[in-house]
Amino acid sequence: MADTIESAAEVLTRLPIIRKPRSGLAVAPNMPDYEAARRAFSWEAARRELDGLPGGRGLNIAHEAVDRHLHAGLGSKIAMRWLGKEGSRRALTYRELAEASNRFANLLARLGVGKGERVFALLGRVPELYVAALGSFKAGCVFCPLFSAFGPEPVRARLEIGDARVLVTNAALYQRKVAAARLALPGLRHVLLVPETGVQETRQAMPAGAIDLAEALADSSGAFAIPPTEPEDPALLHFTSGTTGRPKGALHVHAAVVAHHITGRLALDLHAEDIFWCTADPGWVTGTSYGLIAPLTNGVTMVVDEGDFDAERWYRVLAEERVSVWYTAPTAVRMMIRAGDEMARRYDLKPLRFMASVGEPLNPEAVEWGRTALGRPFHDNWWQTETGGIMIANFLAMDIKPGSMGRALPGIEAAIVRRAPGGAIQVIDAPDEQGELALRPGWPSMFRAYVNEAERYAKCFSGGWYLTGDLARRDADGYYWFVGRADDVIKTSGHLIGPFEVESVLMEHPAVAEAGVIGKPDPMAFEVIKAFVTLKSGHSPSEELKRSILAHARKRLGAAIAPKEMEFKPNLPKTRSGKIMRRLLKARELGLPEGDISALERDP
Ligand code: ATP
Ligand code: MG
Repeated sequence: MADTIESAAEVLTRLPIIRKPRSGLAVAPNMPDYEAARRAFSWEAARRELDGLPGGRGLNIAHEAVDRHLHAGLGSKIAMRWLGKEGSRRALTYRELAEASNRFANLLARLGVGKGERVFALLGRVPELYVAALGSFKAGCVFCPLFSAFGPEPVRARLEIGDARVLVTNAALYQRKVAAARLALPGLRHVLLVPETGVQETRQAMPAGAIDLAEALADSSGAFAIPPTEPEDPALLHFTSGTTGRPKGALHVHAAVVAHHITGRLALDLHAEDIFWCTADPGWVTGTSYGLIAPLTNGVTMVVDEGDFDAERWYRVLAEERVSVWYTAPTAVRMMIRAGDEMARRYDLKPLRFMASVGEPLNPEAVEWGRTALGRPFHDNWWQTETGGIMIANFLAMDIKPGSMGRALPGIEAAIVRRAPGGAIQVIDAPDEQGELALRPGWPSMFRAYVNEAERYAKCFSGGWYLTGDLARRDADGYYWFVGRADDVIKTSGHLIGPFEVESVLMEHPAVAEAGVIGKPDPMAFEVIKAFVTLKSGHSPSEELKRSILAHARKRLGAAIAPKEMEFKPNLPKTRSGKIMRRLLKARELGLPEGDISALERDP
């Protein structure tokens, strides 16, 4: 194996440690002392923070998220502030959410849809999506949200793989994305249609056999007793982002709610008084674990914005809704950086006390930008569709090392491992060594299957570890540093290079907004690095700028590792969940087959 790069750690640790806040916090952190919390933590105790179904009849996500707050007298508290993309708004109390989801559960029962059957949603971020999710949990069904922007083929494939019994969508999405494939989906028995937002006057034509959800809910009772659900009963099906290849359907159980709840409390520091905004769409696991379940179990008021990303709109939402805890993704942070600091200065973000990010490595530059432009740093955290919840995080009461994903959640045993030639798993205890990030199985939100892919699931586990497919290092203080996905690592001139460190260096250049790097085959160096770069507003591509960016990279990384080639792009190809698809940059560069691009956001 070639050497790992020695410069990597220096590259990512250039920015000073951001010391944990020692005083002056408006709200006392839920976890004031990481070490103490780690020592005291047990999953049993975390489970006891929740109720369980009345009468000891098991555990149900929707009960913990909504119904139990009614018993605690919080029925009239606003659970969700919904912001329509055209400017309308709606507020739903915990009681209203409980009743609406009861109606949905009663409707499923009336339709004869039983325990374990799959209810899919193909909807924008409208209240009905959240009601359908909660109602499905109550009915013991498995809920599977899809991005509404998926094209017909990705929709069909997921409905088929997931054996969808029910689909909740609207007439326009149905016609455009499902109708043509309907005959090929005999298992899909019921299509429930919600009105399209912004299309009030003329009612959309109802496809034959479809059910008008609003009418059907009005005909259903608002009272529902959740039948027993066991902690191990399946509850959620999430397709992975498809960054590295064909998306996998990860199945989660009701017990996952314990992890959602506790990570919301410890990693996002949710307090009942918070106004919380998770910007992710539920079509991506983050938008369900943290855009629906964790905020509700923690009894906060959550903001749901139907609109798509727009820097100005997002600042307005943060300011006008007085958001106090904000959870977003590096792609959004980079787009906000791109929009310029002046825009940030126009908004009053005083109530915002905690900002977190997930989904991709968060470049040190972006952490620092949060501090200088928004007045507080971003807290990066790491997890996957498969882990169901946050596993590694920069917690509030912890020093931040910009560029690090943070430390393992209390209750989570993480390790850096290598596969020995015979296949045995070897744990690397020494600090700063690169290897695969592994987790000790047993936390409640761990996926229980890849649907229809038992072998692929089994391959994720070895030697008592769950192997994540991500490469990382752990430093002497227990902080994890992302190196790259095992598939993305570049081998050049005897060095193994994670794209993250090279991209982070490129982003230090004042003109660079985003960067994606790939390895290109080279007869001398095995691979050379090619960079694709988008620019911040106010900069335009030129040969001179290219030279300046490449020179900066050479200075920081050394000639052996720095990109040899560079191309400006107006946008980089991304998944629907906002991740740079390096494999697609590479396939296009080399003229290779593009592979599964069902999750591609748009073609830049
Ligand atoms: P697929 O598995 O289909 O290729 P995906 O891995 O992108 O898609 P997700 O489950 O949405 O699907 O993403 C999890 C992955 O995202 C992680 O394995 C990791 O590679 C990356 N990731 C998430 N958070 C971070 C982070 N904070 N830093 C670095 N990488 C992260
Ligand atoms: Mg993955």
